[in-house]
Amino acid sequence: MVALMKINYAGTVPLSTLDWTGKAAVTIFFRGCPLRCPYCQNHPYLEGAGLVELDFVKEQIKISKPFVSAVVFSGGEPLMQGAVIPLAEFAKSLGLAVGIHTNGCYPERAAELAERKLVDKFFIDIKAPLDDPELYGKVAGWKEYKGASIVVNKTPEEIIAAVAKTIETADTSGLELELRTTVIRDFVGNEKEISSIAAWISEHVKNREVTYVLQQGIPEHSLEEGLRKNRVLEREELLELGKIAKGFLEKVRIRTKEEGEEIV
Ligand code: SF4
Repeated sequence: MVALMKINYAGTVPLSTLDWTGKAAVTIFFRGCPLRCPYCQNHPYLEGAGLVELDFVKEQIKISKPFVSAVVFSGGEPLMQGAVIPLAEFAKSLGLAVGIHTNGCYPERAAELAERKLVDKFFIDIKAPLDDPELYGKVAGWKEYKGASIVVNKTPEEIIAAVAKTIETADTSGLELELRTTVIRDFVGNEKEISSIAAWISEHVKNREVTYVLQQGIPEHSLEEGLRKNRVLEREELLELGKIAKGFLEKVRIRTKEEGEEIV
């Protein structure tokens, strides 16, 4: 008898309009992530085991099917688990579009999904300038995260190479693509850094429909206690950063708790 595949599962949002702009989606959160970004807002999903049968998650998707046109796999890091493949197959068999939120650390799995046409849109983090391993390592929690049983075992250079490869895969497969940076005052996302990321995208991504989104990080929800007291970046400040990115890219948006998503 074939063993039933399990998924380390964190939860479902049955109907979300926030996880894929323009679509009503059911969002499935995977537990576990290879990174420990100090600003992580989903840190309750980073560790522990919430193993459930794949059929349970398929049932969650099926229940939402009458109300949604898409499924979003988020986390944690959905590409960390092989279960994402059969779940994407299942979603496609129901006629749903598939979106994947990823930190870009699993280019091979991203490529498999793209080649087998099991994904329609990638949402990929660019956490810091890709030519700055020191900063990327800091933002991804490399060697910084304390008190956890898991440590980030990829070097910053390896993380950057994986992110660039994942972006290249998404770009060359002609899928919809959103790249996103979370901005936290005095931590990551100053003018120089945003300018450097936007310039990199402009130079390396051929898909002119690519959207770059600056997300307002909420320091008080951070994994790392030391960041929780940082003052949140105001919408106007994020908008100014968006205008800098707009100097390099056609499609730039900001996402804030005040106004939701706005085109810059
Ligand atoms: S913010 Fe970082 S640690 Fe948190 S889920 Fe995303 S990649 Fe993982």
